[in-house]
Amino acid sequence: MRRPIIAGNWKMHNTTEKARELVELLKPLVGASDVEVVVCPPFTAIAATVNAAAGSNIAVGAQDLFWEDWGAYTGEVSGPMLKDLGCRYVIIGHSERRQYFGETDATVNKKLHAALRHDLVPIVCVGETLDEREAGKTLEVVRRQVEDGLKGLTPDQVETLVVAYEPVWAIGTGRTATAADAQEVIAFIRKTLKAMYGERAELTRIQYGGSVKPENIAELMAQPDIDGALVGGASLDAISFAAIVNYK
Ligand code: PGA
Repeated sequence: MRRPIIAGNWKMHNTTEKARELVELLKPLVGASDVEVVVCPPFTAIAATVNAAAGSNIAVGAQDLFWEDWGAYTGEVSGPMLKDLGCRYVIIGHSERRQYFGETDATVNKKLHAALRHDLVPIVCVGETLDEREAGKTLEVVRRQVEDGLKGLTPDQVETLVVAYEPVWAIGTGRTATAADAQEVIAFIRKTLKAMYGERAELTRIQYGGSVKPENIAELMAQPDIDGALVGGASLDAISFAAIVNYK
């Protein structure tokens, strides 16, 4: 019922040349997959990535966008600009944006509405820090991020939305949440979305992210509420990313 979606978040890596190379390597490796495959290069490599991926089953996303469409916002990139380049997805509210660039649930919500206004599929990230987990506040934190960050959607938009549950302590650390822990929080995210939007939230895809690798993807994907992965480090290597996409 929910088509799996595996997305690579390249973060601040890859020149245009490297991006092209990586996509060329990936194309034959993931070409037979029936999961939705997305790569998210830095802004500077989006055009080259879209070009290299043309005609393949690899779609392209951005890692962020600004909520206004045009104007005096030095350094920012908007939804219409991403559409113009051929982006179909956009990551919003990644924990690194929240940690280093002051993003909040309120800015996440504005960016979410901007993405949807321009027909971009949003991949909205939520997740607790290590302190929050150790204090037993995981569900409370995630509920607030979902209720405030994802508010004001229409039923159709709830179906389009992709959420990524990324416990901050698992990102780039080699420490993955156990599949059972990830399932528990992801089921809770779905329950929270259902309380907000009703049964349509059955169709929202929810990914897990945080040290996903070829070795742990199958167990994660076997969980009933986990619909895909947002992959950082392992998405920079074609063989690893392809192995994750081809987890079945
Ligand atoms: P990681 O990053 O796979 O390197 O842990 C995941 C992410 O930040 O999206």
